[in-house]
Parts: sequence; C-alpha cells; structure tokens
Amino acid sequence: MDLNFSKKDETFRRTVADWMKSNLSGRFAQLKGRGGPGDEHSLHDLRHEWEKRMAESRWTCVGWPKEDGGRGLSIEQQVIFFEEYARAGGPGRVGHIGEGLVGPTISTFGNDEQKKRFLPPIVAGEELWCQGYSEPNAGSDLANVRTKARLENGEWVIDGQKTWTSLAMHADWCFVLCRTEEDSKLHRGLSYILVPMRQSGITVRPIMQMTGTSEFNEVYFDGARTAEDNIVGRPGEGWSVAMGTLAFERGVSTLGQQMQFRNELDAIIDIARQNGRDRDPMIQRRLVDAWIGLKAMRANALRMLSRPAAAELPREAYIYKISWSIWHRDLGKLAMDVLGPDAEIGEDVPYDLSSLQRLFLFVRADTIYAGTNQIQRNIIAERALGMPKEPRR
Ligand SMILES: Cc1cc2nc3c(=O)[nH]c(=O)nc-3n(C[C@H](O)[C@H](O)[C@H](O)COP(=O)(O)OP(=O)(O)OC[C@H]3O[C@@H](n4cnc5c(N)ncnc54)[C@H](O)[C@@H]3O)c2cc1C
Repeated sequence: MDLNFSKKDETFRRTVADWMKSNLSGRFAQLKGRGGPGDEHSLHDLRHEWEKRMAESRWTCVGWPKEDGGRGLSIEQQVIFFEEYARAGGPGRVGHIGEGLVGPTISTFGNDEQKKRFLPPIVAGEELWCQGYSEPNAGSDLANVRTKARLENGEWVIDGQKTWTSLAMHADWCFVLCRTEEDSKLHRGLSYILVPMRQSGITVRPIMQMTGTSEFNEVYFDGARTAEDNIVGRPGEGWSVAMGTLAFERGVSTLGQQMQFRNELDAIIDIARQNGRDRDPMIQRRLVDAWIGLKAMRANALRMLSRPAAAELPREAYIYKISWSIWHRDLGKLAMDVLGPDAEIGEDVPYDLSSLQRLFLFVRADTIYAGTNQIQRNIIAERALGMPKEPRR
C-alpha cells in the first residue's frame, strides 16, 4: 500500500472543505447528516437539488475519467474528497447508484452511443438509477433470474418481478438483469438491459422496513419497453456485465463511508461521556474495540483501493465487506447499550426515531445487501483458501 498525501493533496483537502462549508449552508444546511441509513427517504427533492449544485461545481463523479465527464481525481484525492464530504456532514447522495454502479459499467462495457446518452445526465445529477437484480427466487442465487425480455418491433419487452429495489421510487432508469434466451439456465442467456422507469408497464410498490420507512421496493414489469439498443454487452452475455457492476460497488466512497462511521462512533462516545456510561468498563472496552476496528478497516480499505481499478474484485474486497458490515451492526448494538433506557423511547412512537435508533435498525441489513456474509464466506473459502466449490444444482 502506498498512499501518501502530498502538499498539493492537502491544499486540495482545504478546497473541498471550504466548498462544503460555503455550499452546505442556507437552505442546504438542513441536509447535514441526513439521508443516511434508515433515513434515505428524507428530504429527497432537496437532496436532488444538492446533487445538481455539486454537479455545477464538478463535485459529482470525481473519480471518473475526464473523457466520461468526471474529474479524473487520483485515488488520494478521491479519498480526501469523500472524507471531507462526510466530515462536513454531507447528505446521503441520491445519485450514488448511477455514479458508483451503472456509470462505471457503461463506461467499461457500453458502446460510444450509450456513453454519450447515459453518462452526462449522471454527471449532471439529473437522471437517477436503480438496480434490478434480485427477484423473489433470485438473491444470493442470482443466476436464477426469471424476468424475461423479448425483442418486438425494435424494442425489448420485459415481463417479470424484481424485489428489494433500492430507491426505485425516485429512479428514472433501472439496469435490469433478465433472461433473453428462452429456456436458458443459470448464467447463460441473461442480458443487462437499461429500462426507463416512468412508463405504464412498470409498477413500483414500496416495502415497509423495520425503520418504518421504505428505502426499497417491489418492481413489476408488465410489458415494459425499452429501445433495442439499450443493452449493455451482447444479448446473452449479461452475466459478466452484471458481475462487473458488483465489482465497482467497492468504490473509493467506502472511505467516505468510514468517515461517516467515525461520525457515528464519535456521537456515541459523546453520549457515553454525558450520561456517565463511559465509567462502565464493559462499555469502555467495546468503545475501544470499535475504534480499533475502524482503524483496521481503514488500513484494509486503503490497501484495496491502492490497487488499480478493475472489473474484478480484489481479495481484500471480500474481507472488507464482512468486516465493515459486522463492525457496523455491532456499533448499532453498542449505541443502544450506551443510550440505555433512552434507546427504548421514541417520540411519536413507533416511527419518529432518533438517528441512532434508526441506525440500530437499519444496520441489520448491512450483512445482507451487496452479497450476504454467508456468501462472502463461501467465496473466501473457495477463492482464497482453495476449498471445494458448493455443488451446483
Ligand atoms: C437494504 C437492502 C437493499 C437492497 N437493494 C437492492 C437493490 O437495489 N437491487 C437489488 O437487486 N437487490 C437489492 N437488495 C437485495 C440483496 O442483494 C439480497 O437481499 C441479497 O443478495 C440476498 O438475497 P435474498 O434476500 O434473496 O436472500 P437469500 O439468497 O434467500 O438468502 C437467505 C439466507 O440464506 C443464506 N444463503 C443463501 N445461499 C447460501 C449459500 N449458498 N450458502 C450459505 N448460505 C446461503 C443467505 O446468506 C441468507 O442468510 C437489497 C437488500 C437489502 C437488505
């Protein structure tokens, strides 16, 4: 790992911090710390305006190459950008699925026309995306996808159901993994198709989560249509494109995520100081363990990110997903124990919760999305330790 911040980088850090200070103000000030875990629904329209404000100053897609409309920042400067963003209390980004997942996928696997059509509105913060992979019988076993698409008069016609689709209620487009070859099985015969969400063939139904809010949805495709050209990669070769998208999910923004974790841990430590829980040796020990865990995660993340970007996951990425998700889940429990009896009190119960209560409830999902921890362990067993593969049905 070779990650040193030069003088130029430190100047850049001040530029980002100053921009955040002067722009996350006025009507945007209310966005500080909002839109995070369990709070994704809040202030959406204003956060969308914020995305466009960032775009005006070229602070979206900072790691994308310049030819794709990005800022072409070095890894070091991307790390700085995301850290300063989180340090200033920058809100959850409404454009993160476009910027972090489908944009890099189109850049890597798409053709020139697709890049011209789809990348600029992501950079401008204008078009929002959602990810149409999971189905009622295809989650960990993603190759079991049943949603179908067929060509009819120069258009793909899509029928089927996706589920757990985050932010589908706000999305303009969805990248849909679907079966385009009749009777094909497993990874073969799948395609990666870009589908406009605002059409009569699509129904979005919110799923209530235990936070009392609905970050994800069921999405029904009932004769939904999209142009024949809106396929990334060749028909039947969608699996490798879909896996490419998952590899991009690791992104440099994970460092910003850690700054966010640091903010959460600091808030918990502050509460422990105020309510005297910091005198309890068991709580002290857990707070120290959390702090050590955060340092170890940062080292692993920097090691992972200092490798050149590639459409395949480095080994560190598998360890990383497991370690941060368990750490974050445990932080939620620690927060409740530090709050003590206050953890059980909500204003306007059941659902007007404090940010730590929302955190506690939402982090249960961290060990599930982007590949469950059991699946990550299977992959580590097979790829890192060379153990036998699970038999396929
Ligand atoms: C907050 C949140 C947001 C999400 N957003 C999206 C989204 O935007 N788009 C999208 O497409 N999906 C999304 N998902 C879905 C997510 O990708 C799936 O939940 C995940 O892949 C697991 O699939 P599943 O829920 O069908 O569980 P299953 O695959 O049915 O798994 C159930 C349990 O069995 C275990 N299991 C399954 N197979 C094995 C195995 N082979 N070995 C050992 N254990 C196994 C799992 O680890 C899990 O504990 C989201 C999920 C969450 C929680």
